[in-house]
Amino acid sequence: MNYIGISAFDTANGPGVRVSLFVSGCRLRCPGCFNPESWDFAAGKPFTEETQAKILSALEEEYVEGLSLLGGDPLEPENVDVLTDLCRAVREKFGSKKSIWLWTGRRYEHVRDLPIFQYIDTVVDGPFVQKLKVETKGAWFGSSNQRIIPIASVAKE
Ligand code: SF4
Repeated sequence: MNYIGISAFDTANGPGVRVSLFVSGCRLRCPGCFNPESWDFAAGKPFTEETQAKILSALEEEYVEGLSLLGGDPLEPENVDVLTDLCRAVREKFGSKKSIWLWTGRRYEHVRDLPIFQYIDTVVDGPFVQKLKVETKGAWFGSSNQRIIPIASVAKE
């Protein structure tokens, strides 16, 4: 997996101050995507053990509320296993003290069985739809079809 960037003090993606990881690669190609340079799986640089250690270290700050996983799409097959390992490591180190949010262009109903969701608190789901674009400053999604879903409140059949 490659990643495009890490923000250790992100106040734009999820509640509070967060550590955000922007991964590379997305096949959905939504027209009007805010970040088309992230579609390329080769964009950015390789995610290594050092990268993971850097994220775990950044999460230690008391003022950091949690981790946000964005893209690209974190659920692309090239990305999801590495991110599942990262989320497991976050839970092992911090328990439920730090929240984990994940953004995906997929609908949650179609991906809910992926093992990563045992570690995720909240998913923001669905593709970006230009005609439904949300102009509200500070919104955590780009178009009104996208949903903020607290995983714990969704019954798993
Ligand atoms: S899912 Fe996200 S990253 Fe992928 S094309 Fe759509 S808006 Fe862009």
